[in-house]
Amino acid sequence: MRRAGYDSGVTAGHASAPWSHVKTVFLDRDGVLNKKAPEGEYVAQWEHFEILDGVVEALGRLRRAGLRTIVVTNQRGVALGRYSAAEVATIHAKFQEVLAAAGAQLDAVYVCPHDHGECNCRKPLPGLYAQAAADDPSICAAESVMVGDSLVDMEFGRRLGMRTILIEAGAEERAGGEKQARQMADLRCSSLQEAVDEILGSIRGPIDDPIDGTG
Ligand SMILES: [Mg+2]
Ligand SMILES: [Zn+2]
Repeated sequence: MRRAGYDSGVTAGHASAPWSHVKTVFLDRDGVLNKKAPEGEYVAQWEHFEILDGVVEALGRLRRAGLRTIVVTNQRGVALGRYSAAEVATIHAKFQEVLAAAGAQLDAVYVCPHDHGECNCRKPLPGLYAQAAADDPSICAAESVMVGDSLVDMEFGRRLGMRTILIEAGAEERAGGEKQARQMADLRCSSLQEAVDEILGSIRGPIDDPIDGTG
């Protein structure tokens, strides 16, 4: 019953750097990059990994713009014995092959394979960020944005002082905490493509102002 790792003491309002300073995009996996499995089911093998429309292109745009892309994903199914850590790694290796063919590969993927209350890396806890920052010390939370489809993703980003973008799922896919997730998000988008439009648009500045465009 205990929702381990949760504390509702996250406050609204935080001091992230401007959007134009974003250098790293942290991405949730299920529901952002690939179709989320129905409640109680799991994406256990590559055959179940259904890449969402536009995701490969969106990741390619981030890469070409010089932004780091890092997946942080809770995979409790490992702890529950639904699939193994090796199977998760195989899915990610195959996904990276697809992405690489399009010049869109991810810089890193970090997985929490644990159940609730067993670790410091199950989002919203910060362990996966700590792993990423240990592997690449130039990563800075204040210059990062977290893109996710659930409350834990928004909390994860908020607690670390990142910007947050909520990908809003279709009504039937909405899980609990949706209202809170919306409140905690800096931006709400319908897809990763739209989120990337926002991120890159903010970095480049407005491009649709012919009068005050370039001096
Ligand atoms: Mg998700
Ligand atoms: Zn963990």
